Amino acid sequence: MKAPRILIKGGRLIDPAEGVDEVCDLLIEGGKVAARGKGLKAEGAQGLDAKGKVVAPGFIDLHVHLRFPGQEQKETLITGSKAAIKGGFTTICTMANTDPVIDSGAVIESVKAQTGKLGWIRILPYAAVTMGLKGETLTEMGELRAAVAVGFSDDGMPILNAGLMRRALEYTRLAGPPVIAHCEEKSLTGAGVMHDGVTATRLGLAGMPAEAETVMIARDLLLAEGTRGRLHIAHVSTGAGVELIRAAKGRGVQVTAEVTPHHLTLTDEALNTYESRFKMNPPLRTEADLEALRNGLRDGTLDAVATDHAPHSRAEKELDLGAAPFGVVGLETAAAVLLTELVNRGTVPLPVLIASLTARPAQVLGIDRGRLSKGSAADVTILDLEADWIVEAGSFASKGVNSPFLGWRLKGQVTDVLVAGEPVLRNGQFLVNGESA
Ligand SMILES: [Zn+2]
Repeated sequence: MKAPRILIKGGRLIDPAEGVDEVCDLLIEGGKVAARGKGLKAEGAQGLDAKGKVVAPGFIDLHVHLRFPGQEQKETLITGSKAAIKGGFTTICTMANTDPVIDSGAVIESVKAQTGKLGWIRILPYAAVTMGLKGETLTEMGELRAAVAVGFSDDGMPILNAGLMRRALEYTRLAGPPVIAHCEEKSLTGAGVMHDGVTATRLGLAGMPAEAETVMIARDLLLAEGTRGRLHIAHVSTGAGVELIRAAKGRGVQVTAEVTPHHLTLTDEALNTYESRFKMNPPLRTEADLEALRNGLRDGTLDAVATDHAPHSRAEKELDLGAAPFGVVGLETAAAVLLTELVNRGTVPLPVLIASLTARPAQVLGIDRGRLSKGSAADVTILDLEADWIVEAGSFASKGVNSPFLGWRLKGQVTDVLVAGEPVLRNGQFLVNGESA
C-alpha cells in the first residue's frame, strides 16, 4: 500500500532531537517527512488540522511486556498494538519473558516475522541475556544481535550471578546494544509485595527494601564501568538509585536509565486500599523517592519514560495481594498521566517530557527514530493538551485492566497517530482493523 500524502497544518511542532518548538506545518510523503515550515502548500494532499495541538515524533517505549508469543490470555499482538497506538507509541520494545522465551535466533526471527506481518506499529524485540531467563548460561548474543535484537534483557528476573552479568556487559562493549537490567537483589525482596516502609508495617504486608534495588544498581554500574560495556537500567524507583546513576554518568560510565509513569506519580500509600493494581516490581516507593525521580527526569539523569506495560488477566489480578502477580498496564495512560501530573503542574517542561518519550529512548538504543527532520520516517503523534477525560477500564484497548490510574481525571490526550506516514489513529478512533481477541 502506498502511504498517502498528508499535510499536517498549524500544530505546535515539538521535535527535541532537532531543538524545534514552533508552530508550523509538516508534509508527509511516501512514509517520510517531505518538508516542514510555515504556510506549506501541497496540491492534492490530505489535510490534517493540528491547530491548537502538539505535533511530536511518534513515542518510543523501551519497556513493554507484549505477552506475545504464548501468553494470549494476558494480551495479544493486536490488543497490545492497539494499546500502544492509543497511547501515542509508534515503536515499542518488547521483553523476552514470553513463551517461548526469546533466547535464540530462530525465536526472534519468528517473532519479527509475525509482528512485521501485522505492521501497525514498529515492534522491536529484546533478546534474553541468559537461556530460558534462568540466569545460568548466556544466550548466543552474537547470533541474536545478527537477528536484530536491539537490546538484551532478562527483565522480570534479575541476573543474580555477577560473573554472568560481567560477561554480558563485556560483550556489549564490542557489539553495541545495551544490557537492560532489572535491578533486584532477590535475597532482600524475598516474599515482599510492596515497598518496605512505614506503610507496609502499618498494613502488615511483607516489604521489599529500597536496598534491594540500589545494591544491584551499584553492582551493575561498577561492572559497566570496569568492562566499559553498555548498561541500561530499567524502571528506576529509588532516589538513591538516581544518585548512583548521576554519579556514574559523571564518571563517564556508559549508562542510561528509564523511569515509569507510576513511579513518577504514586507512592506506597496507594496500597492502603490493598488493591493488586498497585502491586508491581519494583514497588511504589515514598514521596522522597518520587521527588528524586522527577528531578532525575528533569535534569536528564533518567533518560527515558518507559511504561513497563504488564497486562495480566482479570482472574490473576483478582487474587489477594500476596498471590496476585506483579505488574500494571501503562501504554494507554502514560502520556496523559504525565501531562496532567508533571507538565500541567509545572514540574517538568513539555519539551523535556516529549524528549523522554522520543529522542532520548531512540538514543538509548541507537535507533534512527524519534525525530521529524526532513527525510525521517513519518512516525507522528498528535496531542490535544486540553482534552479532559477519565480513565475507565471499559475503554482500554489492552486486554489488561490492571491500571493504577483507574478513575483518574486527566487533561491531555493523544488524538492522532501516523506510523511510516500511515494514519492509524484519527481523532481518537482506530483506522486499523483486527480481531480484538
Ligand atoms: Zn523489571
